[in-house]
Amino acid sequence: MAVRGLIGLAAWLLAGVSAQAAPIAAVILAAPVAPGARVQPYVRVPAGKVALTHVRVIDGTGAAARENMTVVLDGATIAAIQPAGAAIPAGVKVLDMTGRTVMPGLVGMHDHMYYTARPDADAEGHSEAPNVLPQMTFSAPRLYLAAGVTTLRTTGSVETYADLNVKKQIDAGVLLGPHMDVTGPYLEGPGSSFIQMHQLRDAAETRRFVAFWADQGVTSFKAYMNITREQLGVAIEEAHKLGLKVTGHLCSVTYPEAAALGIDNLEHGFFVNTQNDPGKQPDKCSPGVGNPTLAGMKPGSPEAAALIDILVKHKVALTSTLPVFEQRIAGHAPLEPRVMEAMTPQAREAYLYARNNGVMRPNAAAATGYANDIGLERQFVAAGGLLMAGPDPTGNGGVLPGFGDQRAVELLVDAGFRPEEAIRIGTLNGATYLGLADQIGSIAPGKHADLIVVTGDPSKRIADIENVEITFKDGVGYDSDKILKSVRGRYGQY
Ligand SMILES: [Zn+2]
Repeated sequence: MAVRGLIGLAAWLLAGVSAQAAPIAAVILAAPVAPGARVQPYVRVPAGKVALTHVRVIDGTGAAARENMTVVLDGATIAAIQPAGAAIPAGVKVLDMTGRTVMPGLVGMHDHMYYTARPDADAEGHSEAPNVLPQMTFSAPRLYLAAGVTTLRTTGSVETYADLNVKKQIDAGVLLGPHMDVTGPYLEGPGSSFIQMHQLRDAAETRRFVAFWADQGVTSFKAYMNITREQLGVAIEEAHKLGLKVTGHLCSVTYPEAAALGIDNLEHGFFVNTQNDPGKQPDKCSPGVGNPTLAGMKPGSPEAAALIDILVKHKVALTSTLPVFEQRIAGHAPLEPRVMEAMTPQAREAYLYARNNGVMRPNAAAATGYANDIGLERQFVAAGGLLMAGPDPTGNGGVLPGFGDQRAVELLVDAGFRPEEAIRIGTLNGATYLGLADQIGSIAPGKHADLIVVTGDPSKRIADIENVEITFKDGVGYDSDKILKSVRGRYGQY
């Protein structure tokens, strides 16, 4: 570890990267500390020398599941993965986990700490302005950890100081939650409909905004729907100078334009590319917000290949956020009791109204767009593109932190990926993007003991990914059920 660290440091010095660039990984993955008094009640397996025996291992690399293995943990680190018959060193506590699968903790790449459905929509789906995004600082980090997310990116923040402080307190063992890459406030241009977002004025202000929030401690940025090409270009330049990456949920800027400007990542698969939208004006969001472009872009078409070629050549990663898009398709998203239980009665009622609206007004265009997107996501991966996953807990209210991250992996299997490949997209690929693949994202000796124990076999039945029993973060095993009970009826309130 120390030697690898020195080699990394030397390479960094030789590369002449700016002084801020190196510590980002260390900020996202802070040094492990012992759980504090308020975290302790949720610990089921204290960190130590622990062997999880008779488990199936899905290691996160995409390799096939291995049966009847032993995973040995030593404090915050994975010590060994060995066949069940191999000797377990003396002094190791043995936990027989027959019937369970061990997988890497999920790396959620579109995992907000806020909720959208305020004010509640009426029976016709209308609500009055302004739209407010209430912060879920209590319930969201707990939901993520309980569902097996051990590292996440907030991918756009509305209460950035709350996100930064919650990260600090998690890292200090004061609060429960995953490792966090806190994304700065949205980089939004003129004409935003979100009352909590700042609207950037010009290039000079954009540069100051990025520098200021980087100095406050955010470790990534996200551009939003009304940013101009000039603002986006300046934001990327400034962020890169500081060693930080930029993603975007775009509309005013098309995917090819953003790739040419050097963006690192695009959110929502192929859903929000506006390059062929009718009426698209430069630097302006189109009325179709990408739906017409997606409807017309058949997977396998020369046009799709040309776009994917641009993205792959420019090393632009894509984040698949299928859970939020399946909500548009009547009957697609399951109505989950555990989701209902986590919500406040008001949030539950608002979601059911929105859900019923969708059932009453089936949207054929949404189904076509969804079918095109999953084909394009497969084509992107086949072409060598880096695909990651996240739920985007927004939309009609049915996508929740953590549960949504599991659903994202399930929907990738639905989309045609093998279960082990889908799990890699939800784990190692996110770690790779974050520059943390040598520390998290797969199960290997020397890596962080960030893993989940689920009952059943997700390699055969991907829905078993929902059966998280224990989430290990830095070698501490947290009791999933106990955490879920602590947020019952809270989501939607705080
Ligand atoms: Zn989002």
